[in-house]
Amino acid sequence: MKNYLITKAIEEALNKQVNREFYSAYLYLAMSSYFESMNLGGFAHWMRVQSGEESAHAMKIFKYISERGGSAELSAIEAPKARGGSAGKVFEEVFAHEQKVTGMINALVELAIREKDHATFEMLQWFVREQVEEEKQASDILAQIRMVGDTQGHLIYIDRHVGKRE
Ligand code: FE
Ligand code: CA
Repeated sequence: MKNYLITKAIEEALNKQVNREFYSAYLYLAMSSYFESMNLGGFAHWMRVQSGEESAHAMKIFKYISERGGSAELSAIEAPKARGGSAGKVFEEVFAHEQKVTGMINALVELAIREKDHATFEMLQWFVREQVEEEKQASDILAQIRMVGDTQGHLIYIDRHVGKRE
């Protein structure tokens, strides 16, 4: 039996976030499949890279829970809805999704403060910074799509550009 260094409330909230991060990975994979079907291979690649990052986010929290004596529990991952519409619509959804995730991270930070859990607070600061990047990334691509025009023929340049993401 390990000693608990995190409270049950923190453990539960972090486990929920692990699930949400894996859901994000699923969501971006679904979007990658959508872009493949639109013959926008660059966007599809970008989405797969993003999906990989989301799995890494989940793993970061997953490992942290155990490190603090908690028990990391996996629950069913919600299936993302089928995608449709245009590239612009998809990136509007990405931006909205990341804003929602930022709200979840902020709520976790507030919980850590209430629980006086400085270690969790510190761990979460990485995610606070990451969300700044995630929101900027999505809004930048969305702005570019709006600039060139949200029709497939106009998206070729952006497709090439986002296809270079490492
Ligand atoms: Fe994430
Ligand atoms: Ca990122």
